[in-house]
Formats: sequence, structure tokens, C-alpha cells
Amino acid sequence: MSAVPMLTLEGLRKAYRGKPALRGLDLTVNDNEIFALLGPTGAGKSSTLLSAAGLIELDAGRVSLAGRDVTEADPASRDVAIVFEGFNLLPVLDVKDNIAFALRSPSFREDEKEVALRVGRTAELLRISHLMDRDVGTLSGGEKQRVAIARALVRRPVMFLLDEPLSALDLKLREGLRAELRQIHRQHQSTMLYATHDYHGAIAIADRIGIIDGGIIQQSGTIEEIYALPANVVVGKLIGSPSMAFFDAAIDDGHVVVKGAEQRLPIGEFGTVGTASGKVLLGVWPEDIEIGVADAAGASTGTIYAVDNRGFERAIQVDTPGGSFRKVVPLSMPFTQGDACSFRIPQGGGFLFDAASGRRISQMEARG
Ligand code: ADP
Ligand code: MG
Repeated sequence: MSAVPMLTLEGLRKAYRGKPALRGLDLTVNDNEIFALLGPTGAGKSSTLLSAAGLIELDAGRVSLAGRDVTEADPASRDVAIVFEGFNLLPVLDVKDNIAFALRSPSFREDEKEVALRVGRTAELLRISHLMDRDVGTLSGGEKQRVAIARALVRRPVMFLLDEPLSALDLKLREGLRAELRQIHRQHQSTMLYATHDYHGAIAIADRIGIIDGGIIQQSGTIEEIYALPANVVVGKLIGSPSMAFFDAAIDDGHVVVKGAEQRLPIGEFGTVGTASGKVLLGVWPEDIEIGVADAAGASTGTIYAVDNRGFERAIQVDTPGGSFRKVVPLSMPFTQGDACSFRIPQGGGFLFDAASGRRISQMEARG
């Protein structure tokens, strides 16, 4: 992989009225990949995209597009298209003029025959040809979002910046448009940076993911890489469905001892373990925790705090002295609220984190 990355962000810093939003953010998006920026509200996703587009002034850091330093370049010269959740359509224009808008701007000035051709093709791709003469004010949310994407796509930019483009849509529309975005990506070899707070949406669309929180990228990689070695507690809490289970634990005489639990896990199961400042957290993907009836031999005991029926399966919340966790179980497990249950952490199934810093201190990958 010697190709120049499409987008490189280095050490981005941005504060709004003295309050930091980006705190030294580094990010690389490769040519022709879909990269999802996954993080909660306030994490800094929009600020990151606005930085890449040149729409906010940075306090520090560098932005490069296809190897060119564009930190000081004006937005128009960057050849990126940004799509916001709020659609950014022009209400006074109809659908076809909204899509054509950028092509008629001074930096493009395509002739009208070419404009009509490209607008028509893009509309077909997004299945909005039948809407071309409508006022945008009369469109549904899903239709508006298609028009907004068409408007960005028609320019054939080197890169798309998509800021929660599907968040306002209902589940079915979201899934449909997500599939279409992947299809467009395949056909046009485009690079996309896709910001979202939706874990399922991120892993469904992306080649790689960056977990963002507190204005920095906590970890980036493929979802498999992140699962295999989550960098810190923040990542564990933002990844998975349900997210990582955490237990208060201590290291004692070569073993990891979970608070209030029966199991003593030999430290060797975790690979090399760095020094912790004191308390540790044992993190386990819920899929790896074995759940059973109460009082199973060699297992620890918990209480079923909540049961969510999901039709063909159940999500349970288990309270234990060391922490509570959520897990999906089959309907054949007849748990009801208030029941006691047993849980076991299988050999090599966990990660150790320093409780104070949140950083992972064990080096063994999850067996997957
Ligand atoms: P996200 O898109 O992940 O929700 P943002 O980049 O929008 O994150 O915001 C990051 C932080 O910066 C938040 O705390 C937000 O309140 C703050 N922020 C964003 N834009 C502004 C603004 N224009 N003025 C003041 N604070 C802002
Ligand atoms: Mg945002």
C-alpha cells in the first residue's frame, strides 16, 4: 500500500469560545475507501468534516487532500462535497435545479447540455427522476436526502464528506439508502468519510472505522481489528451490540480476580500485561460470556436485572458485584427479571484495562 492517502488530518485542534472540540485529532482516509467516523453526539465528528472541507478555521493542525496540503486553501478549491443531516437544499429551487446548482457555479460553469446530461444520470442513479420538477419543500425526508446526495454526487468530487446523512430517516429508508451509497461507491470509485453515531450503520457501510470521542480518534482500523484489540475503555463502550462488559478486578498472585466473582483467571491468559496503577477493569465482549442457570460449578453468580424481548431472541441485563452487562441470549434460555444466573468468562476471553487511564494493558488478541 504505497498509494497516497486521500485525506490526512494531523494534529487538528479547534476550540469554540475557549471550549476544545478537537484536541489533536489525527486521521487518514485511504483512496477509494469508505471510512466511518463513529462517536457520540459532541465527539467532534462535524468539526472534523468541516475541517476537511475548509469550512471552519483551525487553531492548529494540517489537512492534506491527495497529498496536497490544503490547510490554507479555500473550500471551493478543495473539490470535496459535504452532505449534512439537514439536507442543505435550496428551498426556492426545484429538484433538478438543486442538483444542477454546483455545476452552474463559477468554478464549474458547465454548458447546459452537459448539466442536463449529468443531472439526469445522477437522478437515475438515486431513483429520483420522477421528482425533477417538484419544489424541494414538497418532498419527504427520504426524498430530500436523496436529492442532497445527488447534489453532491453530480460534481464528481474527489471525496465525499457525509455528516450523519441518514440519521433523520426511518430504519427502512436508512438501510435502503445505505445500500445505495455503497453501490455508488462501487461504481464511482469514490472516497467517503461518513460520520455517524450509529454503530450498526457504521459497520454496515465502512471499510474502516475511526472511533472518535472527546475530540480525538480513540482507535481506527477494520471492525475486526478493533474487536480483536480494543485500545481503551472508551472504544469498548462505543463498539459492539451490546457493548463491552466491564468488571472491577484486581491482579493478585498471578491471577485476575473479579470483584465478588468465583473465577480466578491466570494472568498468562491475557498475554503480556503492562503495569497498572492499581485497580484494573476486565473487559469482555458479551458474546464471549457464558451464561447459565444459577449455581453452575466454577461459575460466578449474577442477577437478571432486565429482560428485553426482541422477538426471536432476548437481551438481558445481568447485575454482578463487579459490574453489570448486557447480552443477547436465545429464547430457549428461560430467564425472567429477578432470576439468579451464573456467568463464566472463558479462557483468553478478556482484556485488561487500567482503571485510572482506561488504557488496555493486556496484549492478547481475542480469539474471535
Ligand atoms: P459531533 O458532530 O460529534 O456531535 P461537533 O463537532 O458538532 O460534534 O461538536 C464538538 C463540540 O464542539 C461539542 O461540544 C459542541 O457543542 C461544540 N461545538 C460545535 N460547534 C460549535 C459552535 N459553532 N459553537 C460552539 N460550540 C460548538
Ligand atoms: Mg455532528
